[in-house]
Amino acid sequence: MTISSSTLVPPCSLPHLPLEPLSIVQMLAGSRLYIFLDYDGTLTPIVPVPANAVLSPLMKDTLVSLTERYPVGIVTGRGRSAITKFLTEEIIHKVSLAASHGFDIHMLNGKMLHVGDNHQMSNFRRFKDALREYISEFPTGCCIEETGYSISLHYRNVKKEEWAVVESMLDSLISRYIGLIRKDGKMVFETRLDIDWNKGKAIEYIISNITHPNDTLNDIFVIYIGDDITDEDGFQSVNKYPNHLSIIVSPDEELGRPTHAEYRLCDPAEVHDFLNMLLQL
Ligand SMILES: [Mg+2]
Repeated sequence: MTISSSTLVPPCSLPHLPLEPLSIVQMLAGSRLYIFLDYDGTLTPIVPVPANAVLSPLMKDTLVSLTERYPVGIVTGRGRSAITKFLTEEIIHKVSLAASHGFDIHMLNGKMLHVGDNHQMSNFRRFKDALREYISEFPTGCCIEETGYSISLHYRNVKKEEWAVVESMLDSLISRYIGLIRKDGKMVFETRLDIDWNKGKAIEYIISNITHPNDTLNDIFVIYIGDDITDEDGFQSVNKYPNHLSIIVSPDEELGRPTHAEYRLCDPAEVHDFLNMLLQL
């Protein structure tokens, strides 16, 4: 594998992804395409209530067509049951799924990977029980979203002056348990097992399991599209492959941090246009 560690770049230097099929055909140069996609903020806009992040009919149609044409992986912080509802039965069985930030992998070839041993999982379950019990004492507006492998504390509906309170209350609870870590996303604190595993490692694991046995790295072209801090692991992993596109979804003015992504699309509507264009190649 050609390992070339990527570097963080300021958002102002990030090129907008060309949306002309010819440019992409030239980039692909005959290699086999593998597409990995985050869900929230990438395939759907970020919405006030996480449960309402439903796929638009247009995006759904495009995804269905995409899965019929290319190997597609969905790499999400959502748990398997939540993402299954959003993607629907029509799509979920046609993609490789890395749910819970890659801790829960179900691949197109039927192979699965669950990260975390029994002891770690039982300790985590006790933490989740405690958070569920104490959530009513957190500032108003907090809501919990549970998966088997992480528990998200959403604070997008909490008053700004109380965000620090949410953070310190959660940290205090986490500190009472061994082997857990807090990861921060857009208006969400996620607690999960403190294991060296992430979306990027999940992508690499899936690629190593679903690519054709005779494929060399030069035969494949890997695309990852994501919008959040946790997607940086995905960008870094994809950047290791000789042929790749790492794409962050963000309006220029909102990307207030450096990123490992090498290209940018403005919003899920542009992601839709880009995916649709891949269908025309
Ligand atoms: Mg996202």
